[in-house]
Amino acid sequence: MSKTVLPIPGWASRVADTLSEGPHVVVTGISPSGNIHNLREVLVAEAVANALKEKGAEVRFIFHADTIDPLRKISPGIPESFKEYLGHSLTCVPDPEGCHASYAEHFLVPFEEALKEMEMDVEVLRSHELYEKGVYTQVTREAIEHTAELREILQEVSGREMPEHWSPYLPRTASGKMGGARILEHVPEENKVVYVDEDGWEDAADYSKGEGKLGWRTELAARWKALGVTFEPFGKDHTSRGGSTETADRMAREVFHYPPPGRYEYEWISIKGKGPMSSSKGIVLLPKDLLRIMPPDALRRMMLGRDPARALDLDLEDGFPRFMDEYRASVEENPVPFTHLVTVAQTVGANTQAAGEMLRKGGYEVAEESNLAKDLYYARNWSEQWAPESMRLRLLDFEEAKEAATGLDEEQCEYLAAVAGKLKPDMEGDLVQDLLYSTAIERGLKPKRAFAAVYSVLIGKKSGPKAGPFVAGLPIEEVRERFSV
Ligand SMILES: [Zn+2]
Repeated sequence: MSKTVLPIPGWASRVADTLSEGPHVVVTGISPSGNIHNLREVLVAEAVANALKEKGAEVRFIFHADTIDPLRKISPGIPESFKEYLGHSLTCVPDPEGCHASYAEHFLVPFEEALKEMEMDVEVLRSHELYEKGVYTQVTREAIEHTAELREILQEVSGREMPEHWSPYLPRTASGKMGGARILEHVPEENKVVYVDEDGWEDAADYSKGEGKLGWRTELAARWKALGVTFEPFGKDHTSRGGSTETADRMAREVFHYPPPGRYEYEWISIKGKGPMSSSKGIVLLPKDLLRIMPPDALRRMMLGRDPARALDLDLEDGFPRFMDEYRASVEENPVPFTHLVTVAQTVGANTQAAGEMLRKGGYEVAEESNLAKDLYYARNWSEQWAPESMRLRLLDFEEAKEAATGLDEEQCEYLAAVAGKLKPDMEGDLVQDLLYSTAIERGLKPKRAFAAVYSVLIGKKSGPKAGPFVAGLPIEEVRERFSV
């Protein structure tokens, strides 16, 4: 069973209710042709797999990495010289950074690691290995035998004329490319096709050994049958009219005699102010980076949204603290507001003891140390990468505070000195807030100017986090020193 503590979302239960009793094979397939960001698809599949498990069904959940797919274009950040590999299997192209065994692994491994970090109960299969192991041999043979029908379906659905020598099977030729060969003969008893390559040379490919692949739309229908797929989510680009699912559905029914799996269409995720996520445009959020600012279940909740059939505009900047507060309120009692954690994390760094002290004095309940350390880790990473300028802060050192004080008038300086005289160790946040306020009133100083003075000598800004809990959480000598400059 999956370890996720999130309840099964209503939409996922409704999808599960439309499917059979099982056993089920839930699949999600992604091509590692660039940075893999399509977590929403995997999470939709996971949620439906969990809903089926909850109903008592036997479920196999597969992440099908399309490692045998050809390199189609040069993504941002990939050297121009990689053009020579266009048409080659991603698993046969070198790693652009030289750190993994192949181009495919370079993009797949970090995603796989993120899935592990999320404790996702999923099998990761690599398509080149499935071809090499013969998992697709039978369906490939069927496809080649029914070339004419597949071609007809493709033409009818897409409305495009296919080349006369179109074949559902693409042998890898001597050049390393797939898609340039013309099939001359099928030798089914040897699992082979004889073909003529781009240069006019004749050769043969053994389709039981991964020496080529099925074209994308045929492969989709073929793998449903080979793996026994019963459910697969798709983005709306595939499900549009004339798209890949319409073609594959007909191929599955009419050629492979396999019922098309249950389906769910999810909508795109955009990043606020940037546009829809797209690896070819370089607009991506990688799961491993998102796991630096929030725990796995928060990421599940964020990526799925209320309903993944709706488009989602992610706001990781101003809107993020509210999201985190809502998430934390759903999984723990009395969570510390995320903005306060951000203040604490920026003030004490990774020192959990000092953080615990600061939180207690601020009047907050403190989580056990390991949880607190994680909370601080998320808050600190968010503050460094995403926080709006207004939420970024750093405690000034004494010399900087002295410099900042030169911008204050006499009334403000005297006010700070008066507060310093009244501050006592162990005062809690509310008390300090009262003290800061009442001292200002007593001295006839407008609170706004009083608080501006406090922020100036502590963080060099005119405003900041709620002053009482912030000041109460700092070591009292540090505050007195800065208030008396
Ligand atoms: Zn690498």
